[in-house]
Amino acid sequence: MPTQKCPLCGKIAKYDNPPGNSEKYKCFLCPVSGSFVISLMAEDHFAKFPIIDRTYYSDKAKAAKKGKVLIIQFCDDESEAPLIQRYDEKADWFR
Ligand SMILES: [Zn+2]
Repeated sequence: MPTQKCPLCGKIAKYDNPPGNSEKYKCFLCPVSGSFVISLMAEDHFAKFPIIDRTYYSDKAKAAKKGKVLIIQFCDDESEAPLIQRYDEKADWFR
């Protein structure tokens, strides 16, 4: 698995494409934030976020119930809060 800095907490994390090889998403395994899925557009957006806002999402990722995973997507509808978050079945995203 390739590694890079976690977009949520900045620690070095592993990531992979989801099953089906969608290149629009990365599935992260972070030693701090745990497992989460982020779209490439949302990842770009996070780079501009202050650390306090990213920590909020890191905590959300850690709070996922067993078998669930946090999905973070970017919705470009010019709203104030363009990031969408939801919990989904982990098995659909992690092999
Ligand atoms: Zn992290």
